[in-house]
Amino acid sequence: MPQVIAHGGGVWSLQVPIPDNPLGHTLVHVLDTDRGPVLIDTGWDDPSAWGALTEGLAAVGTAVGEIHGIVITHHHPDHHGLSGQVREASGAWIAMHAADSEVVRRTREALPGTWLGYLTDKLAAAGAPEEHLAPLRAARDGGRMRTLPGQRAALPDREIVPGELLDLAGRRLRAVWTPGHTPGHVCLHLEEDHPAGLPGRGRLFSGDHLLPGISPHIGLYEDPDDSTVTDPLGDYLDSLERVGRLGVAEVLPAHQYAFTDAPARVRELLTHHESRLADLLALLAAPLTPWQLAERMEWNRPWEQIPYGSRNIAVSEAEAHLRRLVKLGRAEAVAGTDPVTYVAVR
Ligand SMILES: [Zn+2]
Ligand SMILES: [Zn+2]
Repeated sequence: MPQVIAHGGGVWSLQVPIPDNPLGHTLVHVLDTDRGPVLIDTGWDDPSAWGALTEGLAAVGTAVGEIHGIVITHHHPDHHGLSGQVREASGAWIAMHAADSEVVRRTREALPGTWLGYLTDKLAAAGAPEEHLAPLRAARDGGRMRTLPGQRAALPDREIVPGELLDLAGRRLRAVWTPGHTPGHVCLHLEEDHPAGLPGRGRLFSGDHLLPGISPHIGLYEDPDDSTVTDPLGDYLDSLERVGRLGVAEVLPAHQYAFTDAPARVRELLTHHESRLADLLALLAAPLTPWQLAERMEWNRPWEQIPYGSRNIAVSEAEAHLRRLVKLGRAEAVAGTDPVTYVAVR
């Protein structure tokens, strides 16, 4: 049985499974327009997800061949994975913010060896121990890895322009740029009265930016060719405040479940990050590399139990927090250290 929720006013959500992932599923949203249904996100590139998507569309009275357009909140595979297959089946356009389209283009063109070299250097610079780097070096030098994850992702053919209404017949859907989780993440504001009369200004498709019970991962933006010192956590916190001020009646996120009172959830997340930054500052009483900081940070399980790949993500998150603290003038790099260590400013 397809898991479908009718949200009213020509909006449905379909549960599309993410195989072997604790998140469980992506909520793909269907938005009816005068030119046919439009999808907001598509789901993971996997036969079981494709089955759930096509069955879900049938349950709401349409079919994948009828899809008119695809609006993607961000480039991650649980959101953009099936876009190419939907476009092939329907001729739909795919829209994405330019910064995330750029990530898709770069990933498609990346050579596995070059990418592994970049990752190894980056982790070494963050202070990763030799036993963590060795498998990456072996993979790079062995040339066994032929494709990278995301290398088959579809190139979008339309750009989502922040602040503008999308070109959807009979609907008012405005793009709100919410960088942080990815550089080109967007939320989509359906500026129409809530169908059940809930107070507030319409509904927000929030992607991974604003979720009811999960604090999204904020790591460094990965771009081997760009040495700009970005501040993804700062971007995320700014984007959160912006979304909180929209005053929407209801949030339709891409995971978990729909909820109301966006400003309360925004405050919770802001408080969470504030206390996390305070905890990190306490840890930085003595100089630490990003890797050492990650080892000492609080995660959902002890560091020893965090799997190999998740450690890379954890270190990226530690670095994003360090960037924020440095930018706020509350921590600084210790001159002459290699790998570089950071310490709290007294
Ligand atoms: Zn994501
Ligand atoms: Zn996601």
